[in-house]
Amino acid sequence: MYIATANLLLPTTIIGSLPRPSWYTQNLGRREFREAMVDRAYREQYLDAVSTYLRDQEVAGLDIVTDGDCRFDADVAGHNWFSYAPLRMSGFSGANFYRAGGKAGFPHKPGHILHDVLETRMMPDLTGPVGRGTLQYTAVWKAAQRQTAKPVKFGTIMPELVAMAVRDLHYKDLKKAILAISDALNEELHELADAGCKVIQMEEPQIHLLAAKGLVDKVLNPDFMVEVFNNTVRGLRKKTEIWCHTCWGNPAAQRLFAKTPSYAPAIEPLSRIDADVITFETCSSGGMDLEAIGKGIKDKKICIGVVDHHTLQVETPDQVAALVRKALEHIPAERLILGSDCGMGREGMSRRHAFYKMVSIVQGTNLVRRERKLPEAACLAADEKFSMVEEL
Ligand SMILES: [Zn+2]
Repeated sequence: MYIATANLLLPTTIIGSLPRPSWYTQNLGRREFREAMVDRAYREQYLDAVSTYLRDQEVAGLDIVTDGDCRFDADVAGHNWFSYAPLRMSGFSGANFYRAGGKAGFPHKPGHILHDVLETRMMPDLTGPVGRGTLQYTAVWKAAQRQTAKPVKFGTIMPELVAMAVRDLHYKDLKKAILAISDALNEELHELADAGCKVIQMEEPQIHLLAAKGLVDKVLNPDFMVEVFNNTVRGLRKKTEIWCHTCWGNPAAQRLFAKTPSYAPAIEPLSRIDADVITFETCSSGGMDLEAIGKGIKDKKICIGVVDHHTLQVETPDQVAALVRKALEHIPAERLILGSDCGMGREGMSRRHAFYKMVSIVQGTNLVRRERKLPEAACLAADEKFSMVEEL
């Protein structure tokens, strides 16, 4: 159900992660979140970092904010986005360096930056029945939500990505492993929704990637991935707003494809997922799929990326506004949300680049709001009254 975006026209947000402040040197490692929060040094840095992420988003003027994915460690290419869940859920143990049958990640030879991603993909094995373990998503969300009145969107990795990235010594069956992780995540997310989280984001279901690849596999296919998505969120839309994030990759802010793939073959399966909002990477492709998205997704809101997470060049407000106008030719304003293509914190840009990209999201959207006589968002960062530059 619509909660976070209810009654908001052209709301703005980001996908999730933000670059770490240089002084945020503490890491969670293998500890559970609540245990680490007993450690004075970790607690102070963690809460200060969350506060910084929230303030930056508020100063930019975003409507829906995130905790910047503050729980993830400072590792190569933002690997913790993959490993946080299996390192804490029950049923996983040990740690191995290897690629599970080539099912997760893209092969790259030494000498390529993405080879580092494979080399540092240290994942535990799946060794027993999967359970929620110590994910503690509710505690992580509370640590951010109690610092702001704006809705904090909480994101989680999807079960298929965890299953595809580990060695399964227990179920020895990819389908069973995916569904077991899906059930455990569903339980965890119900606790989070019951605690009052107004928006939960399911990150990277493999629907679009498998549809784009066009391969036929009895488990790894778009239809089964729709089933997995709907199983993972079952019952949640009665309690909260559910988002589905899709993009074409992010490790170390690298593009995984020489040419951005088209969402066209993925639109139909995506239209069947049990979600309120779907996010699409559209800035990096110049809005190539906006018409297909508008035609194919009719009963959900659509969040388009208007800034690119791969580039350091900050999109201008005019560029953002042009993409918003292009989207409005195919998607009604009541169903359009503006965001980033993906998270900006997976070992990519500096804090300043990410900050000004957020400011551009808001300023660009304000240009379109002004044209349509809609209320504009306050953007403190762009208020001339506070400029320290003096006329000579
Ligand atoms: Zn993404």
